[in-house]
Amino acid sequence: MILPKPIQDLINALSRLPGIGPKTASRLTFFLLTAPDDLSKDLAAALSAIKSETTYCQTCFNITTSDQVLCEICRNEDRDQEVICVVEEPLDVLAIERTEGYNGRYHVLQGALSPIEGIGPDDLRIRELITRVSGEGVHEVILATNPSMEGDATAMYLRQRLASLPVRTTRLARGLPVGGDLEYADQHTLLRALAGRQDMGD
Ligand SMILES: [Zn+2]
Repeated sequence: MILPKPIQDLINALSRLPGIGPKTASRLTFFLLTAPDDLSKDLAAALSAIKSETTYCQTCFNITTSDQVLCEICRNEDRDQEVICVVEEPLDVLAIERTEGYNGRYHVLQGALSPIEGIGPDDLRIRELITRVSGEGVHEVILATNPSMEGDATAMYLRQRLASLPVRTTRLARGLPVGGDLEYADQHTLLRALAGRQDMGD
């Protein structure tokens, strides 16, 4: 059966999302076709706003609304300025915030080093991190990149880059599922890993 173009277009677009195959994309498309009008209108508005009304925090590169220069956490005076937790993605910030066991600030690298994918230090927010740590009276940098090969390599690299600065560098304790993403770790495991963080050796 040849589908009308608007339907095929939506199926194609949805299929490009992670975790959604052609079958799920078709099911969602036909669901929207028969669902109340306001659902597709809300969805369309939200999809368009996600790009036009958000931006990156100028300090930590977490996601924030486009009318703000700094994210909510960087604006919060009650957060400890002396500790920076370095993560790969904004979703990792959410994961750590959910533990309610951390009151410092963050730095979102926007990825991890990956020679295979051609992602080098200049593709991440590493230069900005070094600048922050050099200038802001930071006492500790917690390297909370994912417990994966790329995450570990990124942590090792950052450890070297930070070695010449008067700052304590720690890494989340082992116990997080290896190869997994921080965002999928359960709250208690993550809280334990945070509390048991260890100084990184040279
Ligand atoms: Zn921020």
